[in-house]
Amino acid sequence: MDNPFKCSCEIMWIKKFQEAKFYTETQDLYCIDDNNKRTALLDMKVPNCDLPSANLSNYNITVVEGKSITLYCDTTGRPPPNVSWVLTNLVSNHESDTSKNPASLTIKNVSSMDSGLWISCVAENIVGEDQASAELTVFFAPNITFIESPTPDHHWCIPFTVKGNPKPTLQWFYEGAILNESEYICTKIHVINQSEYHGCLQLDNPTHLNNGAYTLLAKNEYGEDEKRVDAHFMSVPGDEYETTPNDLGDTTNNSNQITSTDVSNKENEDSITVYVVVGIAALVCTGLVIMLIILKFGRHSKFGMKGPSSVISNDDDSASPLHHISNGSNTPSSSEGGPDAVIIGMTKIPVIENPQYFGITNSQLKPDTFVQHIKRHNIVLKRELGEGAFGKVFLAECYNLCPEQDKILVAVKTLKDASDNARKDFHREAELLTNLQHEHIVKFYGVCVEGDPLIMVFEYMKHGDLNKFLRAHGPDAVLMAEGNRPAELTQSQMLHIAQQIAAGMVYLASQHFVHRDLATRNCLVGENLLVKIGDFGMSRDVYSTDYYRVGGHTMLPIRWMPPESIMYRKFTTESDVWSLGVVLWEIFTYGKQPWYQLSNNEVIECITQGRVLQRPRTCPKEVYDLMLGCWQREPHMRLNIKEIHSLLQNLAKASPVYLDILG
Ligand code: AMP
Repeated sequence: MDNPFKCSCEIMWIKKFQEAKFYTETQDLYCIDDNNKRTALLDMKVPNCDLPSANLSNYNITVVEGKSITLYCDTTGRPPPNVSWVLTNLVSNHESDTSKNPASLTIKNVSSMDSGLWISCVAENIVGEDQASAELTVFFAPNITFIESPTPDHHWCIPFTVKGNPKPTLQWFYEGAILNESEYICTKIHVINQSEYHGCLQLDNPTHLNNGAYTLLAKNEYGEDEKRVDAHFMSVPGDEYETTPNDLGDTTNNSNQITSTDVSNKENEDSITVYVVVGIAALVCTGLVIMLIILKFGRHSKFGMKGPSSVISNDDDSASPLHHISNGSNTPSSSEGGPDAVIIGMTKIPVIENPQYFGITNSQLKPDTFVQHIKRHNIVLKRELGEGAFGKVFLAECYNLCPEQDKILVAVKTLKDASDNARKDFHREAELLTNLQHEHIVKFYGVCVEGDPLIMVFEYMKHGDLNKFLRAHGPDAVLMAEGNRPAELTQSQMLHIAQQIAAGMVYLASQHFVHRDLATRNCLVGENLLVKIGDFGMSRDVYSTDYYRVGGHTMLPIRWMPPESIMYRKFTTESDVWSLGVVLWEIFTYGKQPWYQLSNNEVIECITQGRVLQRPRTCPKEVYDLMLGCWQREPHMRLNIKEIHSLLQNLAKASPVYLDILG
């Protein structure tokens, strides 16, 4: 067939294209040469017309920080190619000369920040282009860029970040002496970003014997860095009234003003004063103990209020926030056994060191906790609602539960073939759930423990979990549905949902309860758009892609976690606030998975590097600002849960026309 090409170097790229078999058309291409002769393009010969090639003098670019390095790029090609360097994100000073062949690039005073960058030399001429690339590796001495005193959590953790290349060796010193790591005190690296290592010195159930100065020494062949922090885990047994940094609020601190020695030394004082002091002390102790139960069982719950910890209570991966830590003694705790690190930090009661403490005295500790027992013959199963990590969930009718109704619909959660430990957990969790009562926390009615399976009875929430509900009321579902179409959620309905979850979270925070796994999959929807924070641990199977498996069986909801939870496994009320921001995002995207376009590893990288989720299309600016307030990198900079609740309440009340939809 005719074509208008003139045989020349200008169309050589087409020939190369054909030769490279990118060209899929069947027709042959021709060109007209200088003698007006038709030549097949594949046979075209043009002098001084070749593809360029680029070659680097060195493909293994390693350099020590502060030094300089020169790279050469040798190029061929006719006509001679233009050469350029691609140095995306390079921060070190550099000079290049592309006027000569080979072209040169000198990087001066190389910064460790440039380690891992790719450097490319591009040669381009009329025929095409070639590129040669190499990764820059910068060796540098370790730098401990972050270290902090430990805060109470499931595991105590002294969080740190160390940079260094090659990977520094880490050695801890306790009170100046080498600390020999063991099962109970060990370094965990949770995240590695290039040459940056984020982790914890993780301590299982430390006692007053572990209080003191901890020094981290990071070393590699280029140097070393050392940083020290002071850690106070608990007070010396017997010093119940001594002040510690971990005391619970004002009440405790007030009581601290009067030591036990003070009392004994004041024999001459009015005896009424002594009684008052003893009374306050007793009250404070009782308060602490109640708090202790709530915190302890909250995080070990398999059925109710808690997050990933439920799933992994028997996991042997000690990196997990869900892992049960050892007791104060040298015996590791069983899943139900030992007190939680949080509890140790919250109280100075020496019985904490007794591994049997929780085993014997729960009911005595909180005599007013009355877990309702429901007879099995009063529960009639109707149909399965779903299945979680621990057992099936059924819709059931429950007879004789409330005086005003003969029977009511309930959701029952079953735990089959429970071991002795699981049974103990079950009873404690029941106590916890009995104590957590709020209009936006799913109502717990009681247990049925006659035989197998063990059963927990909850109020039935007609529309199931919030994530499914959002998806069912999003634009996709509305489009797909035939006949009886579900209505798409309006913005004020979304705000109404968000506001209710925030109200539940205000309550949990007031109970010093850290949820750790707040997500729409863990909220339930009832009639009239009533939303409650519901069960948690059991959603794992259905939503397994929402969790990230770290070794063993440990699953972490990384897409809902802030940087400090990912890097140091630190879970606090502030990390719950971050998750609440993600829940808002889920609501305004009709239940999309956060960072759905990224793999788990990419999500970890994004979050730890400070990226946040984008504003959903239908989200008013005011609400996105609120999300951003939840996603401040520094936990103390995040909005307070009460502020969030009142902001959402106000927005929900305001007429939607005042909301700036377009931003
Ligand atoms: P879970 O294992 O708790 O995630 O529950 C499995 C399924 O049961 C989920 O899809 C929930 O929608 C449903 N479910 C759990 N608890 C309740 C409840 N209290 N009322 C109604 N449905 C529930």
